[in-house]
Amino acid sequence: MIPMTIGGKAHHGSAEFGSLDPYAGEPWVTLPEASEFDVNDAVEAARAALDGEWGALTGRERGALMRRLSEVILAHAEDLAQCETRDNGKAIRDTRGQMKLMATHYDYFAGLADKLDGRIVDTGSPELVGFVRREPIGVVGAILPWNSPLVILTAKLSAALAAGCTMVAKPSEHASAAVLMFAELFAEAGFPPGVFNTVSGSSREVGGWLARHPGVNHVSFTGSDVTGIAVAHSAASHIAPVTLELGGKSAHIVFADADIEAACQGIAAGIFLSAGQSCVAGSRVLVHRSISHEVTERLVDIANSLRLGDPRDPNTHIGPICFPGQREKIGRMVESARITGEILCGGDDGGLGGLFFRPTIVSGVGTAAELWREEVFGPVLAVDTFDEEAEAITIANDSAYGLAAGVWTNDLRRTWRVSSALRAGTVWVNTYRFLNPSMPFGGVKSSGYGKVSGTEGLSEFLVEKAIWLDMTGQPLNPFPSFGAAHA
Ligand code: NDP
Repeated sequence: MIPMTIGGKAHHGSAEFGSLDPYAGEPWVTLPEASEFDVNDAVEAARAALDGEWGALTGRERGALMRRLSEVILAHAEDLAQCETRDNGKAIRDTRGQMKLMATHYDYFAGLADKLDGRIVDTGSPELVGFVRREPIGVVGAILPWNSPLVILTAKLSAALAAGCTMVAKPSEHASAAVLMFAELFAEAGFPPGVFNTVSGSSREVGGWLARHPGVNHVSFTGSDVTGIAVAHSAASHIAPVTLELGGKSAHIVFADADIEAACQGIAAGIFLSAGQSCVAGSRVLVHRSISHEVTERLVDIANSLRLGDPRDPNTHIGPICFPGQREKIGRMVESARITGEILCGGDDGGLGGLFFRPTIVSGVGTAAELWREEVFGPVLAVDTFDEEAEAITIANDSAYGLAAGVWTNDLRRTWRVSSALRAGTVWVNTYRFLNPSMPFGGVKSSGYGKVSGTEGLSEFLVEKAIWLDMTGQPLNPFPSFGAAHA
């Protein structure tokens, strides 16, 4: 069993559950089932660290610990990558890259930990000094999905630590192992106990207990929009602010002047890698009619060339889908797309059986179809054509979601026009799927609100305190007839 970490100690919970290896098709490790008492203990441990040793550290001291954590991650990167690949089926070539990205996040935010400057404000009176100080928001509850648990956790945790917060993380029941393992590294990196705590379980209740806990000062959630709404309701019960990183139905627009090979490679990587189980998967493609044949043909070639197989084999591009319910959902959505659209490639398990689903391209399904409008969270790309720039923008924006978009063109002015007009939190131009710690990431519309990464992501974990300093040395007249207003 991989235990939870609460207050720096291993906790085995009151029961256990098995975590599925989606390639082998059977449980490979047991994990603890947290009770509501365990969630309470974890929040209390996080509070104790905040009020104790961790809260007393300077920003520079926090940054030094974070840099050490980055080194410890790199030292354990292979074990963490193997664990995550085993648990959620993501290809090892992807998880290995993600471990390096994780280390970079802690390094980047370590550099910001001692730069949380406040400001002095002109209050209108020379004898009344106004300070604005930025302070840690407190205990953060992080609720995670199964597709990239460690990287998604890191985008939250690296900024939260820089801000001086502590955290309780609740990974998905489908992929908890690597997050639980990662928590064990905090002692090795020299962190005081209680700074990072984990609670796991096979029931949705564990996340609910955490989001509703009055000791949690901010809830940072990544997952589906339906669950995000439930989490926001739970957090509202004790007035905790929430960051919601939700799903997407991101569109690419490929103009006639685009570098077609670059566009096809970018589009294929964006939807097929991680078997499409990625929030930023570019799952809709709008191609200018004049090049649609060429683009579609090339996309089909690339899709058919990708290797599916054992995710632990470094030559594998695409592993299995994470769990049976998700595999069934993908199959069902593709079947219903056959009614109006044409399946150009994929659409089945390619004879591999198990939880595999081949990279699939569907054309002409129509913009009213479920496949065009709803998130599949699988390796399924819907392709359509356009004639005019304005038409492409309208179709791309006609979505409940607004997480990301891709624009492929060599026309600089069009680049600016189109990226300004698209309603999405991120627009990639002539590239796709790049994320790093310095660029803010988050969605609009049903893709959520708030940011992770960048200085904007850091701000989510800070609260501003206004401090007024009277320099007159005179007693305050509580009933001023004029001058500065009292509340
Ligand atoms: P879910 O929304 O089903 O679950 C996310 C997390 O919330 C899990 O840990 C889950 O626990 C927990 N949870 C479930 N119900 C509740 C509740 N009522 N209160 C509190 N917590 C709860 O998402 P998935 O894990 O299925 O992830 C897939 C979704 O996440 C996709 O829609 C995808 O687009 C989105 N996503 C968004 C990203 C982004 O950055 N925008 C990145 C990655 C994914 P349990 O596992 O036990 O059900």
